[in-house]
Amino acid sequence: METKHDYQVLLYYNYVTIEDPETFAAEHLKFCKELELKGRILVAKEGINGTVSGTVEQTNKYMEAMHNDPLFADMVFKVDPADGHAFKKMHVRPRPELVTLRLEDDVNPKETTGKYLSPKEFFEAMQDEDTIVLDARNDYEYDLGHFRGAIRPDIETFRDLPNWVRDNKDKLEGKKVLTYCTGGIRCEKFSGWLVKEGFEDVGQLHGGIVTYGKDPEVRGELWDGQLYVFDERIAVPVNHKEHVVVGKDYFDGEPCERYVNCANPECNRQMLCSEENEHKYMRGCSHECRTSPRSLYVEEQNLSQEEINARLERIEQEDGVQA
Ligand SMILES: [Zn+2]
Repeated sequence: METKHDYQVLLYYNYVTIEDPETFAAEHLKFCKELELKGRILVAKEGINGTVSGTVEQTNKYMEAMHNDPLFADMVFKVDPADGHAFKKMHVRPRPELVTLRLEDDVNPKETTGKYLSPKEFFEAMQDEDTIVLDARNDYEYDLGHFRGAIRPDIETFRDLPNWVRDNKDKLEGKKVLTYCTGGIRCEKFSGWLVKEGFEDVGQLHGGIVTYGKDPEVRGELWDGQLYVFDERIAVPVNHKEHVVVGKDYFDGEPCERYVNCANPECNRQMLCSEENEHKYMRGCSHECRTSPRSLYVEEQNLSQEEINARLERIEQEDGVQA
């Protein structure tokens, strides 16, 4: 029996000129609140990028209203069924850019961008021997899941990607370069930058990983792990043909797809971690974080100093000094 979902999560963007992002954002926030949506929307002179959640009725109303606005008439919404909201609040924020790459000259994807490949085309191109597949996301996104054989640029954030490409030009030269990201917005700019940089054969996954997973033909094939998403769901499935776990537990390296944040609010590091290890290590990524006087874990669990000491002692015994 198919489960009925009363909610939907919408993911969307559009590169289109918005003359006054500040005013637009204020009005749009009012509109979203009237519809009782929750989510996060960025607005810039170069366009809009959002993820919102709401009931099926609320989200359908939103899509209809947006499509009635000539600016967003052709905007593509990726729709995920859900059991509830994926956010706690509604934010619409004006920003100087939708996507930040550290570039001397910004790229306008309406003028320069890589070739758009459908999921099927991407699936086929990916298996070509002369192809390099480049993940255009942050390292923690890659670590939870990625296309089989894709290169994980050795960078912490997407912003550092142009420098990485320049340092690793020899790996890419003479090859067909494919890029992909969550919903497609980052690749529009990044693939455009690659074209500007002189790479001749650049393709991007149209609609991103989200669309690839929904495609009735490819059904996420050759994706390993899960997809990291920027809402309360954190991880969603992509490959509906097989599920290979690629995530590794921060503490013991065992296969893991469960994300937690370090309990020290000043650190907040995101790490994959089993429930067992979360308790063993008091959700702290280091000795410093575990003994932080502000530990959220200690607060939630209402741990006494004796209990804290006992856990620290166990870690010391099992893993060596202050592991
Ligand atoms: Zn930490």
